[in-house]
Amino acid sequence: MTRGLVSLNAGSSSIKFGLYRLDPDGRPRHAAGGKIEGIGTAPHLAAKADDGSLAVDRRWTDGAGLSHEELLAELIDWAVDHLKGHEVVGIGHRVVHGGRQFAAPVRIDEDVLTKLESLSALAPLHQPHNLAAIRAMAKLAPDVPQVATFDTAFHRGRADETKRFALPRAMYDRGIRRYGFHGLSYAWIARELARVAPTLAAGRVVVAHLGNGASLCAMHGGKSVDTTMGFTALDGLVMGTRCGTLDAGLVLHLIRHEGMDPADVETLFYQRSGLLGVSGISSDMRTLHESDAPAAQEAITLFTARAAREIAALATSMGGLDGVVFTAGIGENDPVIRAMIAKRLEFIGLAIDETANAANARDIHASGSRVAAMVIPTDEERMIAFDTVTCLDLHEA
Ligand code: ADP
Repeated sequence: MTRGLVSLNAGSSSIKFGLYRLDPDGRPRHAAGGKIEGIGTAPHLAAKADDGSLAVDRRWTDGAGLSHEELLAELIDWAVDHLKGHEVVGIGHRVVHGGRQFAAPVRIDEDVLTKLESLSALAPLHQPHNLAAIRAMAKLAPDVPQVATFDTAFHRGRADETKRFALPRAMYDRGIRRYGFHGLSYAWIARELARVAPTLAAGRVVVAHLGNGASLCAMHGGKSVDTTMGFTALDGLVMGTRCGTLDAGLVLHLIRHEGMDPADVETLFYQRSGLLGVSGISSDMRTLHESDAPAAQEAITLFTARAAREIAALATSMGGLDGVVFTAGIGENDPVIRAMIAKRLEFIGLAIDETANAANARDIHASGSRVAAMVIPTDEERMIAFDTVTCLDLHEA
């Protein structure tokens, strides 16, 4: 029987997934991909097959009470059916935080799971959901090996000064350091860039992952040398509902003088800030574009100004800048935002071709631009699949 693989990227209200058929040499071929959205409200499972046709489109009326585990059971039933004729030989999971210990994908057992659970406090909005999916799949498919792949792993090799806070040494030694996230996305872009633009890939590139979560990665020769997210996924850019970089003194002020407790501060920073907080309208960039409220425009301006500033800052970590790659929901689809960011970077030699940018073309820089600009779709699920094949050594049938 030929072999199949499932990738899972489980969040709080959605689960993204990819199904793959393995070639005899272990190369994963995309068979279908999609997501379950609206978990806890109105669950909706939708996936497209590799030819772009709709593979499944299912809504649960009165499904608000369906748990992640129940929905994963529905998903795996459908996946096994869709991959019929293929034995599922591995399930790969996105796990946001690998801490100090996990530098590469790892096969999951009880001991690994316990260690990953101890990291949940470092990624409270993500890690518990990632791990719940692992537990659920272990119950639903106990004989199928599972692999954890990490958002932190791609950033491991960075220089000390990009990992360290200016805090007492002992804190760094016990793991209070800048880890960086979105590593599966960056690993995929590094792979794609090497394929489609090998000369640029060998140079100094800032990759802008602009989705609900947003961060930047300075990549030199395809390796992460610096990044905007730090100890948690709160740091750096303005995001859909997260604030990005803040003055640490503000946290003290909120607790001491505004009567907030840690839970209030957590909700404020993770769920009520960013584009949503500044606009007072929405965390969704499309909705902000449609609004003529001045606050929507202010949120957009803040988002783009911060992104441009941080791109320029990351150039210093590489001693210059040869290209900028835009990816994720906003990066791949939003010419207005890309143009606003690029405009602020004209002074370092980035010029956008308006027609190419408006068409979401792959190369969007103007001819003569000193700095290249590209749009490359990310594919975290496929990166999980590649990592799972390597970890389980599935290269030979
Ligand atoms: P997540 O971090 O949840 O994976 P995504 O990468 O899907 O997020 O990005 C979500 C963001 O991308 C939203 O702000 C949304 O408005 C924006 N976005 C998605 N598709 C488009 C589009 N076609 N045009 C403009 N913005 C888009």
